[in-house]
Amino acid sequence: MRIILLGPPGAGKGTQAKILAEKLNLPHISTGDILRQNVKEATALGLQARAFMDRGDLVPDELVAKMLMHRFEQPDIKEGFILDGYPRNLVQAKTLDGILQKKNMGVDLVVYLDTSEPVIIQRLTGRLVCSKCGANFHIKNMPPKRDAVCDYCGDRLYQRSDDKEETVRKRLEVYRKETASLIQYYQEMQKLHRLSADEDAEVVLKSIIGLAAGIQDDPFKE
Ligand code: ADP
Ligand code: ZN
Repeated sequence: MRIILLGPPGAGKGTQAKILAEKLNLPHISTGDILRQNVKEATALGLQARAFMDRGDLVPDELVAKMLMHRFEQPDIKEGFILDGYPRNLVQAKTLDGILQKKNMGVDLVVYLDTSEPVIIQRLTGRLVCSKCGANFHIKNMPPKRDAVCDYCGDRLYQRSDDKEETVRKRLEVYRKETASLIQYYQEMQKLHRLSADEDAEVVLKSIIGLAAGIQDDPFKE
């Protein structure tokens, strides 16, 4: 099963993708996570990407495309994947189509997590992220069991530098300008399913699982 999660920053793509990936036993591919890992390790890509990310801008398409192609070389994507944070504009959507075509693959399901602006701001400005495993928490909505400590791996939680309100607004602007047009793109491909992602995470998860089940008889079988 090949799933793309689409939606504004704060829609909960990362949260949903992580749980889905585990339930469906598929790799979770988050371009944001891969980029942040590169920044942390100060790789050549990380050094190039950092300024764009801190500003809330998109990292240039060529850089992200190279990174994604590399990820799609890994054997674990044969059974499918949950893609989160890619594509983010039309050029990227076409890059992805090209990568998949070469492998004789198509996308099964694009889920658009429709989210309202106040919810986005509330979620992002209260978000905490694990510095090791990337798990997301929220000061109010999904607090960790122990203050600033990850429930899953015990590492420290931090606030992403691009989750300041000012940068969040910039990311939203970029989303509207660049990413929102993908809704129509996947609608025309008849792959798009819209959900309201203002609901709690468990409610949204159930809806996505329902959609996946509608596409494939039993998405949970081995
Ligand atoms: P969010 O969806 O909440 O904005 P992400 O972790 O997906 O968070 O992305 C964080 C930042 O990483 C983006 O603002 C952007 O700078 C960069 N990024 C992630 N994915 C892409 C992509 N596909 N193309 C360009 N830049 C990206
Ligand atoms: Zn962790």
